Amino acid sequence: MSEIIPGESDLTDYQQTIEDSSESISLWQASLFENESIASYLYRLRLQNAISAPSSLSQALELGVVLNRWEKFRFNPFPTETELQILSQFCGESIDKLAEAFPPESERKKFMARTIRLCAACCVQACYHRLKWQFDSVSGCEHHKLRLLSKCPGCEEKFAIASSLWTDKSCKCGMRLTKMIKHQQRY
Ligand SMILES: [Zn+2]
Ligand SMILES: [Zn+2]
Repeated sequence: MSEIIPGESDLTDYQQTIEDSSESISLWQASLFENESIASYLYRLRLQNAISAPSSLSQALELGVVLNRWEKFRFNPFPTETELQILSQFCGESIDKLAEAFPPESERKKFMARTIRLCAACCVQACYHRLKWQFDSVSGCEHHKLRLLSKCPGCEEKFAIASSLWTDKSCKCGMRLTKMIKHQQRY
């Protein structure tokens, strides 16, 4: 059983309450951005709902550790229609759009799961992680004609999805995304 309640602060957000026999789960919903990766989306969804651990969200939706895996770009076994359907029901995004946040078959074998890459110039415009940055076939940003960064030029730390970088627009070391652009080589 579900009940849809209009949001108060944002018309695009609305709260869905799922009544379970013993507990109810309410999520403030979020829409996927253009080419946003599933990991980025799940992280934003957690932030928006003040859920600190990926496991808490996953378990609340009765998806076991599935969402933990997705947030770490672990897609083996690949998401099933049922799993996407459950997430879709709570997050408010369509199954088709959610499926687009995962790598296409051609990119799955060499998908870069451990090294988070980014174009700082893209992030300055819209600060979220794009799926295509993790494709082995992609080494630069077509839009800005700049090579992707795989670590912060300031502190040499690897980037992470669960990071304040995306909200602060700067690394923990203090280097801002606007400054990182200068370290991206021409592509
Ligand atoms: Zn770019
Ligand atoms: Zn840094």
